[in-house]
Amino acid sequence: MVPGIWRLRLPLPWPGVPHCNAWALASGSGIVLVDTGMHEPGSMAHLDRALDQAGLTIEHVRLIVCTHAHVDHCGQAPPIAERAGCQVWMHRNHAHHTATAEDPEQAIARRLAVAHQSGVPADDVRRWLERRRSQGSGQAGTLHVDRELTEGDTVDTDLGTWQVIETPGHAPSHICLYQPERRLLISGDHLLGRVSLYFDAGYTPDPVAEFVDSLGKVERLDARLVLSGHGRPFTDVAGHVAANRALVEQRLAAVRAELDQGPRTPYEIAQAVYGERFTEATVQWLLSKTLCYLNHLERRGLARRQGDSPERWS
Ligand SMILES: [Zn+2]
Ligand SMILES: [Zn+2]
Repeated sequence: MVPGIWRLRLPLPWPGVPHCNAWALASGSGIVLVDTGMHEPGSMAHLDRALDQAGLTIEHVRLIVCTHAHVDHCGQAPPIAERAGCQVWMHRNHAHHTATAEDPEQAIARRLAVAHQSGVPADDVRRWLERRRSQGSGQAGTLHVDRELTEGDTVDTDLGTWQVIETPGHAPSHICLYQPERRLLISGDHLLGRVSLYFDAGYTPDPVAEFVDSLGKVERLDARLVLSGHGRPFTDVAGHVAANRALVEQRLAAVRAELDQGPRTPYEIAQAVYGERFTEATVQWLLSKTLCYLNHLERRGLARRQGDSPERWS
C-alpha cells in the first residue's frame, strides 16, 4: 500500500462487524501502533500473527495511539503497553469508556437504566445482562492513558508528522490523524469505507450535530487516501462524507415519520426505523443511535419527550 504502513486486520466477535484494523507506522527502529483490537480469548495471538506477517513483533511497538475509546480500538492497549514498555496516547475525553471500565457493575447499571427508560422489554434486558456477564467487556486490564491528546498535538513517524484532528460524534474521544505532506488520513470509525453510523449517547450535548461538524472538518483536509478503523482503505473522501450526511438526514426523517404516528418509546422507534436489522444482538447499538437522533431533534425543537417511564416521545 504505502511503504512504512501496515494494515493489521484483526477479527471481532460482533454481528456485521467481522474485523477491525490496527495500523502500524514505521518509526525509527520500531513502529507507532494506531489502535489495538479488542480483548477476548485468543485476541493477542491474532495481533501477534498479524504483526508477524509484516515482519514485526509487539516488542517493536514504541507508542500506542488510540483513535477513540471503544474496545475494538483500545481493548488490548494495557497488555501491549506492558509487553512493549511503551506509552498509550488518547484524546482527553476518554471518560465515557475509562470511567466505567474500572467498575463494570456501574457500566452495566448505567446501561440498564437507559434500557428501562427507553422501553426495552424486561426479558430482553435480562438476556442482554446474562450475555454481557458471560462475555466480558472487551477491555483488558486497566486502561492507563499516559498522554491526553487534543487538537494540534502531533505524532512523529518515518512517514512524517501526523496531526491530531478532533472529530467527536461517533465517540466523545474520537480523533483522526492527518499527515499533510502525503495527504494520508487515519480515520478510525469517523469515516469508514462502508457507510455505517454510530453515536455514543449521553456524554455530550448533541453527538449527531458534533458528527456532522466533524465530517466537514475532515472533508476540508483534502486527504487523498483514508485508512479507516474497519474495512479497506479508500480515496473518495468527498463521496464518503456526502453519503454519511445523506444517511444522517435519512435516519432523522425516519425517526420523525415514526413520531408523526403518535407517542413512541425509543425502543419502538428503533425497531421501526431499523426493521430486520433490529435484533437482540444489535439493540444496544441501535438504541444508542436512536436516542442521539431524538436528542438532536429535541434540540432543534422537532421532538419532545413526555415525562412517563418508560419515556415516550412525540
Ligand atoms: Zn468506535
Ligand atoms: Zn470500531
